[in-house]
Amino acid sequence: MIQDLYKEIILDHYKRPRNRGELKNADLEERLNNPLCGDEVTVYANLRDGRLDEVAFTGRGCSISQASASMLAERLLGKSREEAEKEIKAFLEMMRTEEREDLGDLAALKGVVQTPNRIRCATLAWDAFRRGLEGETGA
Ligand code: ZN
Repeated sequence: MIQDLYKEIILDHYKRPRNRGELKNADLEERLNNPLCGDEVTVYANLRDGRLDEVAFTGRGCSISQASASMLAERLLGKSREEAEKEIKAFLEMMRTEEREDLGDLAALKGVVQTPNRIRCATLAWDAFRRGLEGETGA
């Protein structure tokens, strides 16, 4: 069942997070929490020649919130600022509406989130990164 596959993808990112760790003096650093569930995520990134040269996160909380941050880090690495903004927008839109095949594994997050309360778990890292991009001057 597709639902089992989705759960496996989430669990894999939760157990073996990609790019987990603090980036010191990062160009972008933004922390958000989700009091509804007790999740905390901080995202970090460095921009080089207009691209996201490094993307990382730290945090704690439920498997969905942490897997989502790991997926974000994997997904946005190497992207330009514009591509990242587009991707974040598409992801946040998907979480409010319908699953999208073009977002690949990210569909798993949509697939396992069954209640409106959990949407915040999945979008936490992405909201933080979006805020970070807005606040980052790109100097
Ligand atoms: Zn959560």
